[in-house]
Amino acid sequence: MTVHTPMIQQYLAVKEQAKDAFLFFRLGDFYEMFFEDAIAASRELEITLTARGGGGDTRIPMCGVPYHSAEGYIARLIEKGYKVAICEQVEDPAEAKGVVRREIVRVITPGTVMETKSIADKANNFIVGVSRREGVFGIAACDLTTGELYVTSFADKLELLTDEINVYLPVEIVGDAGLIEQLKPAAAGWNRQVLFTERKAMDEQKLSDQFGAETLQGLEPARHLAISLLTGYLEETQKRSLGHVRQIRTYEPNQFMILDPFTRRNLELVETVQSRSKKGSLLWLLDRTRTSMGARLLRRWIDKPLLSVKLIEERLEAVELLHRNLILRDELRGELNEIYDLERLVGRVAFGSANGRDLNALKVSLLRVPALTGLCQESESTTLCRLVEEIDTCMDLAELIETVIVDDPPISVREGSLIRTGYDPYLDELREASVNGKKWLAELERKEREATGIKSLKIGYNRVFGYYLEVSKANISMLPEGRYERKQTLTNAERYVTPELKEKERLILEAEEKMVDLEYAKFIELRDHLTAHLSRLQTLAETIATMDVYQSHATVSMEQRYVKPAVTDSFDLVVEDGRHPVVEAVIDGSPFIANGTSLEAEGASMLLITGPNMAGKSTYMRQVALIAIMAQIGCFIPAKRGVIPLIDRIFTRIGAADDLIGGQSTFMVEMKDIQTMTEKATKQSLVIIDELGRGTSTGEGMSIAQAVIEYVHHEIGCKALVSTHFHELAHLDETLPMLRNVCMAVQETGDNVTFLRKLVPGAASSSYGIYCAQLAGLPERIISRAYVLLASHADGTIDPSGKDSSPGEVTVLEAMRETATAYSPDLTDSGSDERSAESANSNRTDLHVL
Ligand code: ADP
Repeated sequence: MTVHTPMIQQYLAVKEQAKDAFLFFRLGDFYEMFFEDAIAASRELEITLTARGGGGDTRIPMCGVPYHSAEGYIARLIEKGYKVAICEQVEDPAEAKGVVRREIVRVITPGTVMETKSIADKANNFIVGVSRREGVFGIAACDLTTGELYVTSFADKLELLTDEINVYLPVEIVGDAGLIEQLKPAAAGWNRQVLFTERKAMDEQKLSDQFGAETLQGLEPARHLAISLLTGYLEETQKRSLGHVRQIRTYEPNQFMILDPFTRRNLELVETVQSRSKKGSLLWLLDRTRTSMGARLLRRWIDKPLLSVKLIEERLEAVELLHRNLILRDELRGELNEIYDLERLVGRVAFGSANGRDLNALKVSLLRVPALTGLCQESESTTLCRLVEEIDTCMDLAELIETVIVDDPPISVREGSLIRTGYDPYLDELREASVNGKKWLAELERKEREATGIKSLKIGYNRVFGYYLEVSKANISMLPEGRYERKQTLTNAERYVTPELKEKERLILEAEEKMVDLEYAKFIELRDHLTAHLSRLQTLAETIATMDVYQSHATVSMEQRYVKPAVTDSFDLVVEDGRHPVVEAVIDGSPFIANGTSLEAEGASMLLITGPNMAGKSTYMRQVALIAIMAQIGCFIPAKRGVIPLIDRIFTRIGAADDLIGGQSTFMVEMKDIQTMTEKATKQSLVIIDELGRGTSTGEGMSIAQAVIEYVHHEIGCKALVSTHFHELAHLDETLPMLRNVCMAVQETGDNVTFLRKLVPGAASSSYGIYCAQLAGLPERIISRAYVLLASHADGTIDPSGKDSSPGEVTVLEAMRETATAYSPDLTDSGSDERSAESANSNRTDLHVL
């Protein structure tokens, strides 16, 4: 059996405690990795793999990173979804008997990083705990950087749990073993990297120390367990008190509009479908916040639109006031601009990683609060006044930091120069001693120059030799004998000490060391004091974030010409000249065409939308959903006027982007979504289905589409927008009183079709699919042939074998084979005599309003 050296034995013992993490093992100025960790890390981090002896015959693989640049390496491993355990020397090597004692001081995981290199400012970094108890699923979501902790639960359906998990976009999930196993397959379809860890509930006493027994008492068992699993994991990995995670924010799922992950993605609420970036999403458009906390809060508002007229009106009232009062808004924006990320600063204070600069950032931000409060008080907005009514401005904390910390402290808290003169008398004394010492040195330098006649003689300092007198080689002969003791030889100079210098050096260095220690102690004292006031700071941060989102709503509403919606709890949704907020903002050249919507209990609550591809159908349907969401987060809406009823859920089935989840066919996915819709939609929901019934044969597709439309109409009775390419379904308006046909108008001029993007009553006559194919540049022969076939379909003379082709004609299939040699299509050259009857009446201009 291999007998390892004591150090490697120690390594192996520590590694036992961190089997699922890379162990960064501190050796002097490096973090070293050994064995398997070293092999994997050298590959992941592209660092050199070496080896060392460690007892036994085989050499041990090893690689390492300097401790001062470790943060970047750690960030890279975390980004790749790994955990990193940091093992430090926990005793002074000078005092150690045998191998220095080492312990894991923290395990960094994707969901628990605090380091700024690894996290985005404007997004939360959530870790989620999930549980199941008594048939109920619980979820707790925590952002360790800000200390937020949200908790809720759902009766029996795993699907509801996964939907809620997706609201938080967590990078890491912890939970009991069985549940984690159930979630893993679902996570395969999330297209995101998520780290799963199994956990057991934490010690109940410790849990109540963290949150208070009373708070925990009222909690439903599943929620209690979710918090316990999550907090236990945080405690175990972070190995320190989490003073900023004390408040549990519970909510009921039905307090907010429910949006399933597919709908969130499809409406591009916080990221786009294609590039998954914020740019191009609703969040991107609406975000005019000035602080990172505001940006994060805006995102949470978009994640959770309200379901209370009263709360929405409260928000709208503040937004309206700020929308109207440009001066106030500008002033507010100016003040907010100067405020740092209080939530994360508080997180760092709690974590013990805040430095002097962080505390000053906290102070500078706090000093803006009275002005902000004043602006709100003077605003004449009931909401803004109420927001600051009982505000705790935390001025005492700002003043304390001002008294203790100098204006421009260094990054390090262990090298002095961060405590203000006048704060601590003993520190001042030490400082004076040090200053006097320096003066004494200057005087000594002067005296020695005089005595020796060497003008270039100077006093210097280095860590190894301390203070010395330096004389250039050329002048050495001028030094008197005896008094000077040589310490160090350089190329051009010699360095000496004298007994007098040695004596003074001891005093100076002692004072400096004491000074640095004392400064550190005073700093920690201040930080500890702040730790006792974290919840005050957190409440204040939330108030500021809320102001920021109000002004952001007002600013974007002004810039984009939005109007205040009337929010009601009745059924009817009426929008005059509505626009798609994002498409309108990004299309260049042509103007966006506004379209109204009315979905009413006494009129039509369902629209069946027909129209060619590219006519603007899905843009229109998304627009209606986005307008409802904007109203329910308390923002103005892109329209001339709007009455928006509370919508409890939005279901969308739009687009074919990445439907192939887990190898299911598009059609199967569509049917599953529709199944969920039939089960969950209420009269207050909004259902949006794009191209209902595609993906199967025409006959079947059409039949299913009709049956679904009838079901929504009779059984659910909710507001619904359905687009279809089955024009044959237009007749449904004869039997379904709540359904109305509408279509996207197109104008034909000769061979050209112009999309007017105007929604008009009636059904479209044709889908112009072939025209679209032509626009896409398919070879002319395919286009011509398609028109011929279309004509024969229309009059029932179709022969799919293509045998009816006249001599010289080719079948579509043949033409497609020829596409390999396709020529550059010329869309204007479309006057082929094989054109169908439909396009044959060229030079006609008509507007399709049928
Ligand atoms: P469809 O769903 O009918 O195939 P889309 O809704 O995808 O069509 O719209 C196609 C394109 O037309 C969009 O990408 C957008 O650029 C443009 N568009 C849609 N609606 C409008 C509108 N109301 N005004 C101006 N451009 C529009």
